[in-house]
Amino acid sequence: MKKIALFPGSFDPFTKGHEDIVLRGLRLFDEIIISIGYNSGKTKRYFPIELMISKIQETFKNNSQISVQTYAELTAEFAKKNGAKFLLRGLRNTTDFEYENSIAQVNRHLYTELESVFLITSPKFASISSSIIREVHSYNGNVSDFLPYRL
Ligand code: ADP
Repeated sequence: MKKIALFPGSFDPFTKGHEDIVLRGLRLFDEIIISIGYNSGKTKRYFPIELMISKIQETFKNNSQISVQTYAELTAEFAKKNGAKFLLRGLRNTTDFEYENSIAQVNRHLYTELESVFLITSPKFASISSSIIREVHSYNGNVSDFLPYRL
Protein backbone atom coordinates (compact mmCIF):
# COMPACT_ATOMS: atom_id res chain seq x y z
CA MET A 1 0.00 0.00 0.00
CA LYS A 2 1.17 3.44 -0.93
CA LYS A 3 2.05 5.67 2.00
CA ILE A 4 0.31 8.96 1.35
CA ALA A 5 0.81 12.01 3.58
CA LEU A 6 -0.91 15.36 3.60
CA PHE A 7 1.22 18.37 4.38
CA PRO A 8 -1.51 20.76 5.52
CA GLY A 9 -1.01 24.46 6.16
CA SER A 10 -1.86 27.99 5.12
CA PHE A 11 1.36 28.43 3.12
CA ASP A 12 0.86 32.19 2.97
CA PRO A 13 3.47 32.06 1.51
CA PHE A 14 5.12 28.63 0.97
CA THR A 15 8.73 29.04 2.19
CA LYS A 16 12.09 27.29 1.97
CA GLY A 17 11.31 25.90 5.44
CA HIS A 18 8.19 24.22 4.02
CA GLU A 19 10.09 22.97 0.98
CA ASP A 20 12.68 21.37 3.26
CA ILE A 21 9.98 19.51 5.23
CA VAL A 22 8.41 18.22 1.99
CA LEU A 23 11.70 17.01 0.51
CA ARG A 24 12.71 15.28 3.74
CA GLY A 25 9.20 13.83 4.02
CA LEU A 26 9.77 12.06 0.70
CA ARG A 27 12.15 9.70 2.52
CA LEU A 28 9.19 8.55 4.59
CA PHE A 29 6.24 8.69 2.21
CA ASP A 30 5.49 7.62 -1.37
CA GLU A 31 3.30 10.63 -2.02
CA ILE A 32 2.89 14.01 -0.37
CA ILE A 33 -0.12 16.23 -0.98
CA ILE A 34 0.60 19.83 -0.03
CA SER A 35 -2.84 20.87 1.16
CA ILE A 36 -3.65 24.55 1.40
CA GLY A 37 -6.40 25.08 3.95
CA TYR A 38 -8.65 27.74 2.60
CA ASN A 39 -11.79 29.22 3.97
CA SER A 40 -13.07 31.61 1.33
CA GLY A 41 -15.17 33.79 3.64
CA LYS A 42 -13.36 33.76 6.97
CA THR A 43 -9.64 34.16 6.64
CA LYS A 44 -8.08 36.70 4.38
CA ARG A 45 -4.85 35.67 2.74
CA TYR A 46 -1.96 37.97 1.95
CA PHE A 47 -0.75 36.03 -1.11
CA PRO A 48 -3.56 34.90 -3.46
CA ILE A 49 -4.21 31.18 -3.32
CA GLU A 50 -3.95 30.78 -7.13
CA LEU A 51 -0.51 32.36 -7.09
CA MET A 52 0.65 30.03 -4.30
CA ILE A 53 -0.70 26.93 -6.10
CA SER A 54 1.21 27.81 -9.25
CA LYS A 55 4.43 28.66 -7.35
CA ILE A 56 4.30 25.36 -5.43
CA GLN A 57 3.65 23.45 -8.69
CA GLU A 58 6.57 25.23 -10.30
CA THR A 59 8.81 24.38 -7.32
CA PHE A 60 8.09 20.66 -7.58
CA LYS A 61 7.51 20.35 -11.32
CA ASN A 62 10.11 17.59 -11.62
CA ASN A 63 8.73 15.55 -8.78
CA SER A 64 5.62 13.51 -9.54
CA GLN A 65 5.30 12.32 -5.91
CA ILE A 66 4.39 15.83 -4.81
CA SER A 67 1.10 17.53 -5.61
CA VAL A 68 -0.82 20.54 -4.35
CA GLN A 69 -4.49 20.90 -3.52
CA THR A 70 -6.73 23.31 -1.66
CA TYR A 71 -9.41 22.33 0.83
CA ALA A 72 -12.08 24.00 2.89
CA GLU A 73 -13.11 21.33 5.38
CA LEU A 74 -11.68 19.46 8.33
CA THR A 75 -8.12 18.33 7.64
CA ALA A 76 -9.01 14.86 8.94
CA GLU A 77 -11.87 14.58 6.44
CA PHE A 78 -9.71 15.77 3.59
CA ALA A 79 -7.04 13.22 4.53
CA LYS A 80 -9.59 10.40 4.56
CA LYS A 81 -10.94 11.40 1.14
CA ASN A 82 -7.44 11.32 -0.31
CA GLY A 83 -6.47 8.00 1.22
CA ALA A 84 -3.84 9.74 3.38
CA LYS A 85 -3.10 8.12 6.73
CA PHE A 86 -0.39 10.57 7.72
CA LEU A 87 -0.21 14.29 8.38
CA LEU A 88 3.23 15.75 7.90
CA ARG A 89 4.09 18.84 9.98
CA GLY A 90 7.22 20.76 10.87
CA LEU A 91 8.40 21.80 14.33
CA ARG A 92 10.58 24.84 14.91
CA ASN A 93 10.25 25.46 18.63
CA THR A 94 8.17 24.81 21.75
CA THR A 95 5.44 27.17 20.57
CA ASP A 96 4.99 25.03 17.45
CA PHE A 97 5.01 21.96 19.68
CA GLU A 98 2.22 23.21 21.99
CA TYR A 99 0.05 24.04 19.02
CA GLU A 100 0.81 20.88 17.05
CA ASN A 101 0.23 18.71 20.09
CA SER A 102 -3.37 19.84 20.46
CA ILE A 103 -4.27 19.67 16.77
CA ALA A 104 -2.69 16.24 16.41
CA GLN A 105 -4.83 14.95 19.33
CA VAL A 106 -7.99 16.36 17.79
CA ASN A 107 -7.18 15.03 14.33
CA ARG A 108 -6.60 11.53 15.63
CA HIS A 109 -9.81 11.74 17.61
CA LEU A 110 -11.65 12.60 14.38
CA TYR A 111 -9.92 9.91 12.31
CA THR A 112 -8.37 7.18 14.45
CA GLU A 113 -6.04 5.83 11.77
CA LEU A 114 -4.51 9.22 11.11
CA GLU A 115 -0.97 9.63 12.48
CA SER A 116 0.74 13.00 12.62
CA VAL A 117 4.43 12.86 11.82
CA PHE A 118 6.71 15.74 12.83
CA LEU A 119 10.03 16.69 11.35
CA ILE A 120 12.29 19.02 13.30
CA THR A 121 13.27 22.06 11.27
CA SER A 122 16.69 22.19 9.64
CA PRO A 123 18.71 24.83 11.58
CA LYS A 124 19.24 27.02 8.52
CA PHE A 125 15.47 27.37 8.03
CA ALA A 126 14.49 27.53 11.69
CA SER A 127 13.89 31.27 11.70
CA ILE A 128 11.80 31.37 8.52
CA SER A 129 8.13 32.00 9.11
CA SER A 130 5.34 32.95 6.71
CA SER A 131 4.18 35.75 9.00
CA ILE A 132 7.60 37.45 9.04
CA ILE A 133 7.82 37.14 5.25
CA ARG A 134 4.40 38.81 4.90
CA GLU A 135 5.54 41.62 7.18
CA VAL A 136 8.78 42.23 5.26
CA HIS A 137 7.00 42.00 1.90
CA SER A 138 4.29 44.46 2.96
CA TYR A 139 7.03 47.09 3.47
CA ASN A 140 8.52 46.25 0.08
CA GLY A 141 11.42 44.31 1.59
CA ASN A 142 13.17 41.64 -0.45
CA VAL A 143 11.98 38.19 0.61
CA SER A 144 13.47 36.16 -2.24
CA ASP A 145 16.09 34.49 0.00
CA PHE A 146 13.30 32.81 1.99
CA LEU A 147 11.30 31.45 -0.94
CA PRO A 148 12.10 28.51 -3.26
CA TYR A 149 10.66 30.39 -6.29
CA ARG A 150 10.60 33.92 -7.72
CA LEU A 151 7.51 35.92 -6.84
P1 ADP B 1 -0.46 26.74 9.74
O1 ADP B 1 -1.24 27.91 9.26
O2 ADP B 1 -1.27 25.47 9.81
O3 ADP B 1 0.38 26.97 10.98
P2 ADP B 1 1.86 27.09 8.03
O4 ADP B 1 1.65 27.29 6.60
O5 ADP B 1 2.29 28.27 8.83
O6 ADP B 1 0.53 26.44 8.56
O7 ADP B 1 2.90 25.91 8.30
C1 ADP B 1 2.67 24.59 7.90
C2 ADP B 1 3.58 23.66 8.67
O8 ADP B 1 4.94 23.94 8.37
C3 ADP B 1 3.47 23.75 10.19
O9 ADP B 1 3.63 22.45 10.73
C4 ADP B 1 4.63 24.62 10.56
O10 ADP B 1 5.06 24.37 11.89
C5 ADP B 1 5.67 24.16 9.56
N1 ADP B 1 6.71 25.16 9.30
C6 ADP B 1 6.56 26.46 8.99
N2 ADP B 1 7.75 27.07 8.79
C7 ADP B 1 8.70 26.12 9.01
C8 ADP B 1 10.14 26.11 9.00
N3 ADP B 1 10.84 27.21 8.73
N4 ADP B 1 10.77 24.94 9.27
C9 ADP B 1 10.05 23.83 9.57
N5 ADP B 1 8.71 23.76 9.61
C10 ADP B 1 8.04 24.89 9.33
